[in-house]
Amino acid sequence: MSNAQIQTAIKDLAAKIAADHKEETPVFIGVLNGAFMFVADLLKYYDHPCEVSFVKLSSYQGLTSTGIVETLLDPPENLENRTVIILEDIIDTGRTLKELVHLFSNTNVKEFKIATLFYKSEIYNGEYTIDYVGIEIPDKFIVGYGLDYNELGRNLKEVYQLKQQHMINLVLFGKPGAGKGTQAEFLKEKYNLKHISTGDLFRFNMKNNTELGQLAKSYIDKGDLVPDEVTIKMLQDDVEKNPDASGFIFDGFPRTTAQAEALDVLLQSKDMQIDAVIALEADDDVLEKRIIERGKTSGRTDDQDPVKIRNRFANYAKDTAPLKDFYDAQNKFHSVNGIGAIDEITARLAKVIEEL
Ligand code: AMP
Repeated sequence: MSNAQIQTAIKDLAAKIAADHKEETPVFIGVLNGAFMFVADLLKYYDHPCEVSFVKLSSYQGLTSTGIVETLLDPPENLENRTVIILEDIIDTGRTLKELVHLFSNTNVKEFKIATLFYKSEIYNGEYTIDYVGIEIPDKFIVGYGLDYNELGRNLKEVYQLKQQHMINLVLFGKPGAGKGTQAEFLKEKYNLKHISTGDLFRFNMKNNTELGQLAKSYIDKGDLVPDEVTIKMLQDDVEKNPDASGFIFDGFPRTTAQAEALDVLLQSKDMQIDAVIALEADDDVLEKRIIERGKTSGRTDDQDPVKIRNRFANYAKDTAPLKDFYDAQNKFHSVNGIGAIDEITARLAKVIEEL
């Protein structure tokens, strides 16, 4: 998209905002880092009294349900009875927007409006009204005009769609203690993949005592599965947080047929797919010993009690093992011996991946 197209959209936005607010002195608040160019250009087209400031949220996300918002740059003080107009470079799922709204929830502003240069209407969750939209775009990863890819490209005057390399999406499959997390750490480096472990996500939320963590805790403590709807939603959010990933390793997900079906639907909607499901095979006795060993240092309560461990195996047999047939039917199921030295097992996995 050319700079001329962007400028036309911004001029138009400035005119619309002016029509509503030129009789007062609104405070424009840009969201760093992405919005810096947008803010600079918009203000050049806005020929009326106004103030400008910035906020910056940390990339530490996912805690919105509790209202915890980590900020690196706070909103300015004394916004009471002022009209605040947020300037966002892009609104996609609405997750960041939710954090922003929380951030301003105690500021007693007169009016709180949201303007965005780019808007992905296809994936926006619709939670808040977006008052001013510059350009609607499809759900593709874009770079330039303030928006980055791994911090690069913000200085481009135009906007480009990132060309996706061929992605690899893997599911690491296997019973608790099979070594999925350990192997994922190696594979993610080797193939530049984003590792998503639903177990880790739950533990992160429990540690931070979020609403999601509190909900999951009662199940995890018993060695039961967290309900599908909760887990699927969390997983989707995490996939959507990483639109620039060159592939994913799903670890500990899917664990039920409903989760596997939801994963297929999610990936299809993004022109993605699972390339392989690789199971790490090991006997229950070996696994139980490994888990107890891990429990000595991990602090995980579900790793320390043989009753809970066996309950996890039982749940695996009932809910998760049937996924072998699900992925066999798609010709995606591979099995490797999960017993041996860590690097030997990594080599077995790499062989499967490289033959894909
Ligand atoms: P893990 O670290 O994968 O062993 O997961 C630890 C616990 O988190 C499990 O025993 C479940 O209670 C919960 N959990 C993790 N992933 C899922 C999932 N995909 N579905 C339901 N519960 C899960």
